[in-house]
Amino acid sequence: MTFEPTSMPDIRMPEEFSRLRELAYNLWWSWTPRARAMFSNISQPLWALYRNPVQLLIDIEPHHWQTLLSDGGSFMSEYRRVIREFDRYMDPEADTPFKKAYPDYKGGPVAYFSTEFGLHESLGIYCGGLGVLSGDHAKAASDLGLPFIGIGLLYRHGYFRQNIDNDGRQHHLFNESDFYRMPLRPVHTASGRNLLIGVEFPGREVKARVWQLMIGRVKLYLLDTDITENDAADRPITSQLYVRGREMRFCQELLLGVGGARILREMKIKPAVWHLNEGHSAFLLFERLRELMKAGRTWDDAMSTIRRDTMFTTHTPVPAGNEAFEMDLVEKYLGPHAKGMGVAMDRLLELGKAYPGGGGQPFNLTALAIRMSSYSNGVSQLHGDVSNDMWRHLFPQAPHDSKPIKAITNGVHVATWLGHDIRELVEESLGHGWQDRCCDPEFWQGVKKIRDDDLWAAHIHQKERLIRLFRHRLVEQFARHGNSPDEMREVERMLDPKVLLIGFARRFATYKRAALIFRDYNRLRAILTNPERPVHILFSGKAHPADQPGQDLVRHIYNIAFHSDLRGHIYFVEDYDIRIARHMVQGVEIWLNTPRRPREASGTSGMKAGMNGALNVSISDGWWPEAANGRNGWTINAGRYFDNEDMQDYEDSTSFYHILENEIVPAFYDHRQKGVPANWVAMMKEAMATIIPEFSAARMLQDYTRDAYMPLAGRK
Ligand SMILES: *Cc1c(COP(=O)(O)O)cnc(C)c1O
Repeated sequence: MTFEPTSMPDIRMPEEFSRLRELAYNLWWSWTPRARAMFSNISQPLWALYRNPVQLLIDIEPHHWQTLLSDGGSFMSEYRRVIREFDRYMDPEADTPFKKAYPDYKGGPVAYFSTEFGLHESLGIYCGGLGVLSGDHAKAASDLGLPFIGIGLLYRHGYFRQNIDNDGRQHHLFNESDFYRMPLRPVHTASGRNLLIGVEFPGREVKARVWQLMIGRVKLYLLDTDITENDAADRPITSQLYVRGREMRFCQELLLGVGGARILREMKIKPAVWHLNEGHSAFLLFERLRELMKAGRTWDDAMSTIRRDTMFTTHTPVPAGNEAFEMDLVEKYLGPHAKGMGVAMDRLLELGKAYPGGGGQPFNLTALAIRMSSYSNGVSQLHGDVSNDMWRHLFPQAPHDSKPIKAITNGVHVATWLGHDIRELVEESLGHGWQDRCCDPEFWQGVKKIRDDDLWAAHIHQKERLIRLFRHRLVEQFARHGNSPDEMREVERMLDPKVLLIGFARRFATYKRAALIFRDYNRLRAILTNPERPVHILFSGKAHPADQPGQDLVRHIYNIAFHSDLRGHIYFVEDYDIRIARHMVQGVEIWLNTPRRPREASGTSGMKAGMNGALNVSISDGWWPEAANGRNGWTINAGRYFDNEDMQDYEDSTSFYHILENEIVPAFYDHRQKGVPANWVAMMKEAMATIIPEFSAARMLQDYTRDAYMPLAGRK
């Protein structure tokens, strides 16, 4: 059965509210509490069902508008306030932080290529950390006022939805998206037709339609091959994110790079900087090479022209994690492109060899991207060092002790991740201007003025919201499993806001060691089930459909959660996504992070948790060594590293038990006055004051702009 998309919806509403359409089609609403509240007030049931304003406006009953018009003006005034806030944000004359810092900038935009964008749960075009980072990057670019354009792929089925059966087995569901019910509009040509981008594939041309998504001031363009102009066999190229088949993955990446570059050309956009976020889009470099060679440039001249305004961010600290394809496959697809350049295939293939000259190597996109960029960076200071160790041989001229690969530590978009109650407190005590002072550590010391019981009450509210979502999801899951009404009723008693709650949620890749804490099961059980000071742990996460060991981990933990004597202390909520992530980082007391160092390039969920006052308990990996100060969380087993993985697991888990038993549990349950753990709340404030300014996406964008974008743009 082929999918029949609807067409551009005809959204009707009273003239008085006509700008709701524009608001619904701009994700600005997703990080603006007043706008979110306004949409949910239009119809609570539709909001709860979709969490997507476009869908809500399509499905609303026309007579419902009359109710809103005759409510004594309360919805109207809410609407007007949101529109005022939106217009202030979007005002092209606004004095943005970028304009203040670079008043004379006249260059083109930064073009940012990424294979996934995690913007909101209603847009399934992301899978995990890399996507959410791209989404936060785009949101922060909008806040900053940076000229910026995103390029990605629009997946019909996206990443899978996870169902877990009663035995803990992960099932993969691929829901079809109807793009016309998402905040997407097809891009049109001057003559009003859908813009189509063509890319040469062996023996044919594959076409892609282009969709536009607005993220505040930023435009994101997404390519979609599921159109009648393509062969049935080519239509699914943009069907699944991180598709398993290697050749299909190659097709996607060829489309993203070459097709993405051609969107910009078609639309007459001249980027000042080309930013490759991970290597997936690296074939855009060949497209640019083709253009320059066709225009008569020499190879050396073309290469240096491209390098001048190209930059690359790597996110992978392990060699096997870097995207690479068999040479034969690359040769098969690049044939027509090489011909267009008048360049010998071997010369192109050489650019993708991780080790120059050697035979038998695959074509490595990271190596290609590093070679053709003038600025490359890792995503934490530690990851920068690891990347230099991995790739130094690609910089033969660099002095032995230099670091040719730079480091810009990741950050997260505060307005997206800060919980409702804590945000209100911050606005009460620090004022509404906090978004403009996001990177100012002095300013954020102000959270220490918040009254202890206010902060604690706000935290408990957020925790209760997490617990409600969890129970709701679990009832759905148990109903599917055929559990009895009594078992369903039991869910209402699961998770108690008074009990210390630890969260662990991320992709179930094995290096993240989700099961580390179960190494000494009896010791863990003794700590968690102490009747005076019980502890609950909430897990969530998906394993890639091709990752069997990751799925075994899901099953292992799921079975402990529901079929062991730790039932009631360990919990697992299925289908981890941005919504679950948001509730978890906003509601737990402890955020647990146990990667095998140094494989977590940065990690960002701990930043989101820390901003909400959760305390990180983490291996010294990724971003955490830069954040930990001894007063804003705990470091597991700092500085003790072994080559033997089993020994490392033993030491790390033992260190975790020790910290949990002797520091975390006493700090949480002791020193309570009127139910508020004073020492704990002091640590929460320290976490917020140190993590918000240093690990916000605003700080990240400031770094990228100062260290990479402006220097590269200035070199033209
Ligand atoms: C933040 C986030 C991640 C990344 O978490 P890590 O700690 O970097 O593993 C993954 N998935 C979702 C949905 C997120 O929100």
